[in-house]
Amino acid sequence: MRNQDCSIKYLVLVLLALCQPAIGLPEHDPVPGGIALVPVNSDTNALFDGRRVMISESEGAYVAVVGIPLSHSPGAFYLDTAEGKVQFKVKEKQYEEQRLTIQNKRKVNPYAQDMERITRERAEMDTAFNHFRPVKRPDTDFDLPTEGIVSSSFGLRRILNDQPRSPHSGLDIAASEGTRIRSPAAGIIVATGDYFFNGNTVLIDHGQGLITMYCHMSSIRVEVGQAVNKGQYIGDVGMTGRVTGAHLHWGVSLNNARVNPGLFLNQASTP
Ligand SMILES: [Zn+2]
Repeated sequence: MRNQDCSIKYLVLVLLALCQPAIGLPEHDPVPGGIALVPVNSDTNALFDGRRVMISESEGAYVAVVGIPLSHSPGAFYLDTAEGKVQFKVKEKQYEEQRLTIQNKRKVNPYAQDMERITRERAEMDTAFNHFRPVKRPDTDFDLPTEGIVSSSFGLRRILNDQPRSPHSGLDIAASEGTRIRSPAAGIIVATGDYFFNGNTVLIDHGQGLITMYCHMSSIRVEVGQAVNKGQYIGDVGMTGRVTGAHLHWGVSLNNARVNPGLFLNQASTP
C-alpha cells in the first residue's frame, strides 16, 4: 500500500509539474545550481545536508523544494524527513566559461585592508541566506524584477582578468542606470548595504529559506525590516561594486544554495 501511495504521489507531482504556472512551483531541474522537487509525506522538517528545506503543499500533496549548490556533485542524495530518508538524484551539468575584463583591478585582487570588510559582508549575507522564516506557502511564481535583457546567464564559470573566480551565482539583466527594480514576490527586507563586490545591495526574505538578492544598484529605496509586496519598487539599476556596465545582478537562494533564478519565473516573465 505504501508503494502505491508513493507512486500516486509521484503521479500527482508530475501532473503538478506539467501545469506549473497554475500552482506556481518552481521548475524541477535537479542539477548543480538547480532545484529538485521531491515528494514527501508531510510538511514537518526535511533536511538536506543538515539544512532545512522548503516544503510546498498543493491539494494535499507535499513537495520539498530543494536548492542544489553549484558546487554539488551529481549522484543519489537523501532528504532527512520525520518519516525517514527520501532519495533523489542530482544530474550532471556543464556550464559554459565566460571571460571578463574588469578595469578596477582592486575588485579582482582586493588589497589586504579590503579583506576585513569583505569577510564582514560575507558573514552578513550568509546570515540572511541561512535564515528560515516559517511562511505557510511562499510565492515562488516570480515576476522579472526589472525590464532589460539577460546579459549574463546563471552558472557561467568565470575567468576575471585571466584569473579563475567563483561561478556566476545569479542572472544579470542589463538595463540603463535608474531603471526601476521591483520585488518579484512578497517578502521582508533582511539586509541592505554597500558591499565591496556587490555594490548597493538588497536582500529579501520570502520565507522558508527562499532569499533573493539585488546588486550593483544606483539607489536603495527600502529599509531593513520593511515588508514588501510583489511588484513593490525597491531601488534602481546601477553600476556600483564590481561591474563592466550598468546591470542588475539578481540572485536567488534556497536552503543557502544559490540557484538559477530562471526556474522561478512565471511564463509571462520568462525573458
Ligand atoms: Zn551577475
